[in-house]
Amino acid sequence: MSLKLALVAHDRMKPALAEWAARHTAELGRHKLVCTATTGGVLRERNPALDVTTVKSGPLGGDQQIGGMIAEGQIGALIFFPDPLAPQAHDVDVKALLRIALVYDVPCAFNPATADLLVAGGLLAR
Ligand code: PGA
Repeated sequence: MSLKLALVAHDRMKPALAEWAARHTAELGRHKLVCTATTGGVLRERNPALDVTTVKSGPLGGDQQIGGMIAEGQIGALIFFPDPLAPQAHDVDVKALLRIALVYDVPCAFNPATADLLVAGGLLAR
């Protein structure tokens, strides 16, 4: 079954997300990916074979758009690498995204180590 996976990273974490996606291209290639705008651009550049669609940039409402997709039951997992060392202008949006993912019990990973475990656990093999 093909899932729609949400992938988002704050600026300094985008290289880590692109590298993580590159390590799992085979598994991710079976699914649709939705990203905030800048994250999606970085992912496409590093992993041109992946099926990446984008919403608005996070600070311009993209996190809320992904939250809406979660509320609609469209998102199979949230891979979100926030920057733990930099304040974000859209912090309230970030918190709202995390909250709605918890409300709907969406599998989440907030760093590469946990994202690896989601893959190892077979989430993307479904
Ligand atoms: P971006 O948004 O991918 O457009 O940078 C991510 C975010 O900051 O939430």
